[in-house]
Amino acid sequence: MNVINSIAQMQSFSESVRRQGKTISFVPTMGYFHEGHLELMRQAGKMADCLVVSIYVNPTQFGPKEDLSRYPRDFKRDSQMAQSVNVDVIFYPPDMEMYPENYQTYVNVEKVTRNLCGLTRPGHFRGVTTVCCKLFNIVKPHVCVFGKKDFQQFISIKRMVDDLNMDLQIIGLPTVRESDGLAMSSRNKYLNRDERKSALSLFAALKLAQKLYSNGEKKPSIVINEVGKLITRAPYTAIDYIKICDTITLEDVDEIKSQAVIALAVKVGATRLIDNHVFGEKLNA
Ligand code: AMP
Repeated sequence: MNVINSIAQMQSFSESVRRQGKTISFVPTMGYFHEGHLELMRQAGKMADCLVVSIYVNPTQFGPKEDLSRYPRDFKRDSQMAQSVNVDVIFYPPDMEMYPENYQTYVNVEKVTRNLCGLTRPGHFRGVTTVCCKLFNIVKPHVCVFGKKDFQQFISIKRMVDDLNMDLQIIGLPTVRESDGLAMSSRNKYLNRDERKSALSLFAALKLAQKLYSNGEKKPSIVINEVGKLITRAPYTAIDYIKICDTITLEDVDEIKSQAVIALAVKVGATRLIDNHVFGEKLNA
């Protein structure tokens, strides 16, 4: 496994792979790997000849009061885990490479970034789409794999790739959960024991929403109200949003049909967690 820090070296590596007629798959990450990341890597590894993973905690997607400085980092552990799933290259650039002095260009996807996390994290998706656009130009992948745990991120990147005619395929894979249902996240590390228990209310909420829908409830307001009560009963929780949206436009819907997603953002103690479920799809721990 190679570790590449410089943009120029990464670009010439990818160029040489392409010149040999080989394909590149890519998994962008912020590191501090868990099984969710590893599963994306395993799947991405099957999709091309060469698998590149980036580790970059992207400052432009964090708000001024968010957890950029304390975001968990452990490069040694990450590189061992990456090696265990046969990653070919880790791209691990420093901030000065990615955002040198006088940097001033951003990619802004409009409508699909407005709702959900766009409401409480202004500028977040502008940072995400900008860094992904840059990474695509650096790594030059044929296929790029994202987790649907970050549903709005996945939709926004697909929108950017379509709208800007980027020549690569975007694949979304299901959320990997702990055995008790908690969606895996690097931020779960912040939770103490009691908060970890309360965090299970997110998965319970998604299951309740699916059950209400399966029993015939189609009104978002009723489902949101029941789900809200369930989450509020768990200690240390504060709801940021519970919304039911169209899976393509991410606009709120007034009736739950097959193409609807329930998306949650909940603070558990000081840690903000997100999760989602597309109605009718499988929901297993
Ligand atoms: P992150 O390092 O949190 O920015 O995530 C990197 C990639 O892993 C993104 O495409 C995420 O959606 C994906 N990811 C994070 N957590 C999970 C999970 N529990 N299951 C599947 N994919 C995930």
